[in-house]
Amino acid sequence: MFSESYYAELRRKMNCLRCGTPASRDEVDNGVGIQVGPFGCPCGWSEDADYDVSDGPRLDEHGNQIDQWGGLTPPQILESELGR
Ligand SMILES: [Zn+2]
Repeated sequence: MFSESYYAELRRKMNCLRCGTPASRDEVDNGVGIQVGPFGCPCGWSEDADYDVSDGPRLDEHGNQIDQWGGLTPPQILESELGR
């Protein structure tokens, strides 16, 4: 059902190119197959340059905070977490 490259991608591992720590990523089973996000490291490095936060926190054009695993956190969630 799935191509060899799909399984090769799921097996793929990599270390952070910045500090050498084994990188992790999000894997989501959407019912059809497993979708993976970019590899990211706690130091802020991301496999995908669009999500690299090595130089500090970044916001996208809508004010969402970008994380190195390809995630976006809306500003209202950040504010409610600060208000706890
Ligand atoms: Zn790192």
